[in-house]
Amino acid sequence: MSQPVYDPYEEAKKQLRKAIDLLGYSDEIYEILAVPDRVLQVKVPVKMDDGTTKVFIGWRSQHNNALGPYKGGVRYHPNVTKNEVIALSMWMTWKNSLAGLPYGGGKGGIKVDPRKLSKRELEQLSRNFFHAISEIVGIDKDIPAPDVYTDPQTMAWYMDEYSRYVGYQAFGVVTGKPLILGGLYTRVISTGLGTALTAKLAAEKVWGTVEGKTVAIQGYGNVGYYAAKFLYEWGAKIVAVSDSKGGIYKTEGLDPEDVMRVKRETGSVINYPGVQRVSNEEILELEVDILVPAALENVITMENVERIKAKVISEGANGPTTPEADEVLAKKDVVVVPDILANAGGVIMSHIEWVNNRMGGWITEEEAKNKLIEKMTNNFNAVWDFWNKIGRDKPMRDAAYGLAVKRVVEAMKLRGWI
Ligand code: NAD
Repeated sequence: MSQPVYDPYEEAKKQLRKAIDLLGYSDEIYEILAVPDRVLQVKVPVKMDDGTTKVFIGWRSQHNNALGPYKGGVRYHPNVTKNEVIALSMWMTWKNSLAGLPYGGGKGGIKVDPRKLSKRELEQLSRNFFHAISEIVGIDKDIPAPDVYTDPQTMAWYMDEYSRYVGYQAFGVVTGKPLILGGLYTRVISTGLGTALTAKLAAEKVWGTVEGKTVAIQGYGNVGYYAAKFLYEWGAKIVAVSDSKGGIYKTEGLDPEDVMRVKRETGSVINYPGVQRVSNEEILELEVDILVPAALENVITMENVERIKAKVISEGANGPTTPEADEVLAKKDVVVVPDILANAGGVIMSHIEWVNNRMGGWITEEEAKNKLIEKMTNNFNAVWDFWNKIGRDKPMRDAAYGLAVKRVVEAMKLRGWI
């Protein structure tokens, strides 16, 4: 029998259905939110270096703007589909709502393998795409940002193309820009810092403190490294980390910066001396207090959930826990801080960058970091309280989605849309 084709839009709708049922809302509200406000499909022709012209297809999906202008990244990937972009835009509506930001949800994508393009071709692709969607984006309309295989350079091209289109310097039309063009360095640490912070706040609820608690981190990239660095600074003991080549374990604890130095010099954490080796499956099942999955999706499943020993899990990665495993963990009293809350540091920092651009650049990096910490702490506490209200036998994720959908619906009601 062939496997059913995975459709992220169908999954997103299922998730919405669950939140609507939890909140006791009508089908009418589900119907309104299940469909994006607008999806623009554009043709993106690129004159290649060999003189031929290739056509790529791109989309910008704007799901809902009850809380403010649409916001969400643009990804370049050969497998991007229209339904994936729609699903991600819906997910951004919930993520921004939960983060307490004055943003709705949007997402973009181009079906392209960017690794096969030269820098000049990539620039033309980016400029032509942004030009094609320029009518529907804008500082107060829709604010894109980097996602898979797009980066600060892509944002600089977008910003420049849009500024030419409107005839003024529109720095705030995208976030995640290079520093010299109004970006913030703090953007680099923001997701990992947020993931570490939600782990710390959950640890404080469970044990009263994060100090001395043992931590395992799967994935030692941008998110995993900064999560390790901040948890270490706050007194937790990082006993295990891993990357795509495998993992390392040391009962006495590891110094995250030292591990990163070895990863930079040798290509992997596994070359760190004087440690025990563990696999990427074993790292999830170690006898630790806190687990931070910061690499891939679907790693905590019905297959291994019974062997997970951590009492706090902070999801740095997107979708590391399957819905079934999430239910099992909730019944076992494990606090799983859902991705939508735990890895929202990036979009919160994007908001700080956007405000900073609009005010002509007044914030310092230290102030930006403190604002992020304050915002994420408030968000965590709001979800925690709502979780207690709906019942802690349900996953914390249900509370997060419930709260996010509730705020959007309230905004739509106040605006007279429903
Ligand atoms: P990254 O590319 O910087 O790092 C990924 C790390 O995971 C690398 O160290 C890599 O070696 C490791 N890895 C790859 N395969 C692995 C495997 N099988 N087992 C263990 N480790 C493996 O990426 P990142 O930006 O740190 O993102 C990590 C996750 O966090 C992704 O799921 C991403 O979608 C999510 N996320 C990132 C951000 C952000 O701002 N960077 C924001 C939200 C969510």
